[in-house]
Amino acid sequence: MISSDVCVVGAGPAGLTLSLLLLRSGLTVTLVERSALHGREFRGEILQPGGMELLDGLGVLSGAMARGGYPLDRFRLREGRRTLLDIDYRRLEAPYNQLLSIPQQHLLEELLAHCEKLPGFTYLPGHRVGSLQRHEGRTTGLTTRSPDGGTRVNAGCVVGADGRYSKVRQLAGIQAGRLEAFDFDVLWLKVPIGSTGAASGAREVSVVRSRGNPVLVYPSWPDSVQIGWTLPHRSFAGSKDAVFARAREEIVQALPQYADAVRAALESANDLTLLDVFAGCADTWVQDGLVLIGDAAHTHSPLGAQGINLAIQDAALLHPVLTAAVRGGSFAAEHLRAYETGRRPAIDAVMKFQVMQSRMMLARGGLEARLRPVVARIVGRTPIGAKITARIAYGSSPVPLRTDLFTS
Ligand SMILES: Cc1cc2nc3c(=O)[nH]c(=O)nc-3n(C[C@H](O)[C@H](O)[C@H](O)COP(=O)(O)OP(=O)(O)OC[C@H]3O[C@@H](n4cnc5c(N)ncnc54)[C@H](O)[C@@H]3O)c2cc1C
Repeated sequence: MISSDVCVVGAGPAGLTLSLLLLRSGLTVTLVERSALHGREFRGEILQPGGMELLDGLGVLSGAMARGGYPLDRFRLREGRRTLLDIDYRRLEAPYNQLLSIPQQHLLEELLAHCEKLPGFTYLPGHRVGSLQRHEGRTTGLTTRSPDGGTRVNAGCVVGADGRYSKVRQLAGIQAGRLEAFDFDVLWLKVPIGSTGAASGAREVSVVRSRGNPVLVYPSWPDSVQIGWTLPHRSFAGSKDAVFARAREEIVQALPQYADAVRAALESANDLTLLDVFAGCADTWVQDGLVLIGDAAHTHSPLGAQGINLAIQDAALLHPVLTAAVRGGSFAAEHLRAYETGRRPAIDAVMKFQVMQSRMMLARGGLEARLRPVVARIVGRTPIGAKITARIAYGSSPVPLRTDLFTS
């Protein structure tokens, strides 16, 4: 049996950032992660300036970048050679006036390496949550399952940072609040183009519109481009082979510069990974002795590259609340609620903005298509556009890193 102040479930961006913040503030932390190794399936690789600034403040960003990644200047919506929308991050204040394309693994390994240097850290890789322990309606810890039998963790507070299909959320009886807010899914594939090609290609995330469905593309460290082909929501399941043939043809048409590499990398429907795109916002994020953060609390579309940013910001905002709860000796919901009430308006704003953003970028006709040139002019050329860029980069309100709470 293990005892610690806080038990975090999930070693993704949210769980690892929170663990490091709490450890640096002198708390003891047990981190439970179902994967035995850190090589995880493909997740988002685009990091916004808000997350970069927080990770830099934690001393993690330079080490993560030293493991490999590409800085990118802008997000562009293109149609043939025409630029329909240009969100240029170089308009923001340095040094966070760029996006990063960085394998999530590099961020996670660097965060973990920092946690492992600090006293009070117990890491349980290869352990899944089995059940929550409760006493008089309050969560007091959990049990894990692992190939060698699992263990019991007693903790003042359990934090569910276990992603969009959160088991902690389910065990706590909290509804996921799934919303079918988007009418598209994404089929992903990574196409090797050689490290010289990736390093010398366009320093941007692009959505390319051609005759077919819009295609997302960006350089991916060390030697590839990451490609996402959008398709109508839930249209892949029944007709994989037909959809595969169409995806291949349309990707080649939209990205002729990578035609040979795409044909070589894309041989069957098995080379494509489907992302079911949905939004979600859990009914509540706190109970007595329990908190949800990151995707477990709120899930977003990948199109605006917000998920990692928001997960890291959640951790930074929960950090002072948990530190105060440990010092005050109570993890009652009323003491944890400050995190949720402070954070929900910003998350609601991101959700609304993403729905608008995806309609603006992906719609073929209608009002959105007619408004697109107006929006493009505002975003590209006016001070309001610089404000919109800053909002996408940082969110609607600043998220402070409470280094004053650090004891090491
Ligand atoms: C294909 C794809 C592309 C994306 N693109 C982007 C992008 O470019 N930019 C961006 O910002 N966001 C993107 N996102 C979203 C982004 O990846 C997530 O928002 C972000 O990773 C959320 O972080 P998290 O720590 O909350 O959850 P996760 O990263 O999902 O981490 C959860 C962790 O919990 C562990 N876990 C799950 N269940 C259990 C269990 N029962 N017991 C123990 N451990 C468990 C998992 O193994 C995982 O390590 C993308 C997502 C996907 C799927």
